[in-house]
Amino acid sequence: MAKRDIIILPDKRLRLKSEPVAKIDRSVRALVDDMFETMYEAPGIGLAAIQIGVPQRVVTMDLAKKDEPKAPQVFINPEVTWKSDDKQVYEEGCLSIPEYYEEVERPLSIKVKYLDLDGKPHEIEASGLLATCLQHEIDHVNGVLFIDHISKLKRDMVLKKFKKAAKRGEQPNFAEDKEPSHHIG
Ligand SMILES: [Zn+2]
Repeated sequence: MAKRDIIILPDKRLRLKSEPVAKIDRSVRALVDDMFETMYEAPGIGLAAIQIGVPQRVVTMDLAKKDEPKAPQVFINPEVTWKSDDKQVYEEGCLSIPEYYEEVERPLSIKVKYLDLDGKPHEIEASGLLATCLQHEIDHVNGVLFIDHISKLKRDMVLKKFKKAAKRGEQPNFAEDKEPSHHIG
């Protein structure tokens, strides 16, 4: 296992549409191991493979609270098959857009089909934080970021800050803007 570097804005790879996993082999298992190590270290509650620069449709997640035992989950080739009309608002953050948090409205409940690490197909109904996190990560495998769901004004401000910071070889500082919350993934 190895911790990998998480790519951040304005890295163009974040806009790639990831490829489906054709066969769950040793390389996919190794990728998942690395993703968990990277996600726990960050720390984040979800991670998509593209966030470590691998354009494959693989998502790792662990929504366990600090005092709870670890609950790692892997979603391979995840796909939203149904969305509720009811919405919920959740303050999201992203390991690839560090330190920036904003409220995002998404469907409250969704159905997702995916493969587990043994290649077995599943379909689950998710709501609450799991629904938000799954939508955030499935967006990643499609090259979509949570800032695409906020106003253009705010999105442009974030992009500008990250582009400027990248030129200086730094990360932007949002500390003065908002109290830190937590990164979704
Ligand atoms: Zn993210």
